[in-house]
Amino acid sequence: MDFAPGVQIVARILVVEDSPDNMKLFRTLLTLKGHEVTGLPGGEGLLETIARTEPELVLMDIQLPGKDGFALLAEIRESPHGGLRVLALTAHAMSGDRERALQAGFDGYITKPIDIRSFPETVKRALAGETVSH
Ligand code: MN
Repeated sequence: MDFAPGVQIVARILVVEDSPDNMKLFRTLLTLKGHEVTGLPGGEGLLETIARTEPELVLMDIQLPGKDGFALLAEIRESPHGGLRVLALTAHAMSGDRERALQAGFDGYITKPIDIRSFPETVKRALAGETVSH
């Protein structure tokens, strides 16, 4: 799919992220683009939240207390929501996580700290079906 630069895609997006500062940043940037954001600080209640909010995209931190992003992706893939688009949020210092994320079945990854200028466009491309690696 190809979208003209000015065309907005507005979506419901679930962000799973344990850092309050990062969550606030994601929420701000996504809300500015008109997206409807639900946030979770970890995996507790994940499948219930997906069932209730019906997101089009999940942004999943890899490093979480308790179950990590890989374990939570596996839970999503084994659930009735297995076809959901899920992007990994990987830490810049953990370069091995990026390749591992694609191998594990994430629909791409975004590296933190994020580039706030390109982030909205990256999300838009992910919503359009691209595998993003940024
Ligand atoms: Mn984290």
